[in-house]
Amino acid sequence: MNNSTHIDILGAGLAGSLLGLLLAQQDYRVKVYEKRSDPRMQMVGEGRSINLALSHRGWAALNQAGIADVVQEIAIPMRGRMIHSEKGGTLLQPYSIKDENIYSVSRSALNNILISQAEKKGAKFYFEHSCEEIQLEENSFVVKHASDTNTLRSDLLIGADGAFSALRSHLQRTARFNYSQYYIEHAYKELTIPPTAAGDFAMEPNALHIWPRGGFMLIALPNLDKSFTCTLFYPYEGAQSFANLQTPEHLQSFFKEYFPDALALMPKLAEEFFTNPTSDLITVSCFPWTYNGKQVLLGDAAHAIVPFYGQGMNAAFEDCRILTDMLVEQEEKIADIIYRFQQNRKPDADAIAELALQNFVEMRDLVTDKAFVERKKVEKELYRRFPDNWEPLYNMVTFSHRPYSEALQQGILQDSIMKEVMKKYENAEQLNNKDYESIIALLKQRQP
Ligand SMILES: Cc1cc2nc3c(=O)[nH]c(=O)nc-3n(C[C@H](O)[C@H](O)[C@H](O)COP(=O)(O)OP(=O)(O)OC[C@H]3O[C@@H](n4cnc5c(N)ncnc54)[C@H](O)[C@@H]3O)c2cc1C
Repeated sequence: MNNSTHIDILGAGLAGSLLGLLLAQQDYRVKVYEKRSDPRMQMVGEGRSINLALSHRGWAALNQAGIADVVQEIAIPMRGRMIHSEKGGTLLQPYSIKDENIYSVSRSALNNILISQAEKKGAKFYFEHSCEEIQLEENSFVVKHASDTNTLRSDLLIGADGAFSALRSHLQRTARFNYSQYYIEHAYKELTIPPTAAGDFAMEPNALHIWPRGGFMLIALPNLDKSFTCTLFYPYEGAQSFANLQTPEHLQSFFKEYFPDALALMPKLAEEFFTNPTSDLITVSCFPWTYNGKQVLLGDAAHAIVPFYGQGMNAAFEDCRILTDMLVEQEEKIADIIYRFQQNRKPDADAIAELALQNFVEMRDLVTDKAFVERKKVEKELYRRFPDNWEPLYNMVTFSHRPYSEALQQGILQDSIMKEVMKKYENAEQLNNKDYESIIALLKQRQP
C-alpha cells in the first residue's frame, strides 16, 4: 500500500518536516508544501537565534526517525531550573533525581536537519508554495507558487501548518466543527545575553534560567555559540506591561529593578527590545481534526499551546510518531486510522494545553514560594523511595511517554494528597519513614 499512497503535508515546520521523514522512511510518496523560502538558504548569522526545550517525547520520535544522534550534536543539556532572585542570587532546582535532562536546541538548526534528512529519504519539499484553498470532499488543494496556481489531489492531506492552519480554517467552515482560541494577557519578546569577552557562556550553560517575578518572568536557554536566548513574558497592557515600556530609560530602570544580574549581561538590551517583535501567546482547541478521514491536522494546527511546559514541539513530534506507527502497523483503511488517531490523541492534546497554562503560574510565581519548594522536596523523596508508585507531575510530562491525559489525572490526585499532607508539616525534614509510607498507602487507596 505504501508505495502507491500519496501523502501531502502542508507546512515544513518542525512537525511537517519530521513527519515527512518518518513517512518517507516507510516508502510513502511524500510531498511537503511550505509557504516560506527554504530555511537552509539563510546566511549564517542571519535572523534571530531562537531555541526550544526538547525532552523525552521529542527524543522518542527523533529516535524512531533514526536521527537522535545527529540532533544530539546541536543539543545542550539543561539539568534544572536556575532561579535568579531579585538581588541576583541563584539556586539550581534539578529537574529530576535521576540523570534526566531537558535539552536546548536551536529551532532553525533542528528544522534544517529534519528537512535535509527527510529529503535524503525521498520526501520532496516545495518551498514558497502556499496552500490557498482546499476542497475537502475530493481532497484536492490549491497551491500558489509565485504567480502560478496548481490544483493537486491527495490520498491523505496533512495539516502541519501551524497555529493559523489553512486546513483548519477550511474545516472550520464545515458542520459541527468545534473551535476555540484563547490569547493569554501576556506577550513575549526575545532578547540576547551574548558570550563574554573571553568567548565563554556568561552564566551556567547547563540550566534553564528563570527570573520569576510573580506576574511576569524572564527565562534564558543556552545556545551552541555560547550566547543565551532570553524571553521576557510580560502583560501586553496595564500598569506593568509592554505598553508601558516605551523609552530606553524606562526599560533600563525596569530591568535594574527586576533583573539586575541579567541587565549586566545584556549590552544590546535597548536596541533588541525596541527592534524585536512583541508576540502573542495563543491556545487553540478544535475538533474533529478531519472532515472525511482523507485529511488530518496535527501539531500546532490541531492544538497550539502556550510554551510554559516546553511541550508544544514535543507534543507535535509525539503526534508524528503515533500517527506513523498507526499507519504502518495497522491493516485498516487510512480513513479508519485517521478517525482512531484523532479520537486517541485529542484528550492528550487537551490535557497538555491545560497543563501548559497551569505551569505558567508555577514558573513565574510558585518556584520561589517556600511552601511549594518544601512540597517539591517531599515529592522528590517519595519518587526516590517509591519510584513505581509516585512520579512527580513534571517528570510524567517531561520524562515519560505516559499519555498527557493520564499524567494530568494522576497529577490532580497527587496534588490533592500533597495539599492534605503539607497542612501538617512546614518542611520536608519533618517527615519520617512512616509518614512517607502512609502517603503511598493513601495514594493506593484513592487510585481509581
Ligand atoms: C515563545 C515560544 C517558545 C516555545 N518553546 C517551546 C519549547 O521550549 N519546547 C517545545 O516543545 N515547544 C515550544 N514551543 C512550541 C513550538 O514552537 C511549537 O509547538 C512547534 O513549532 C509546532 O510545530 P508545527 O510544525 O506544528 O508548527 P510550526 O512550527 O508553526 O510550522 C508550521 C509551518 O507551516 C507553514 N505554513 C503555514 N501556513 C501554510 C500554508 N498555507 N501553506 C504552506 N505552509 C504553511 C509555516 O510557514 C510553518 O513553517 C514554543 C513556542 C513559542 C511561541
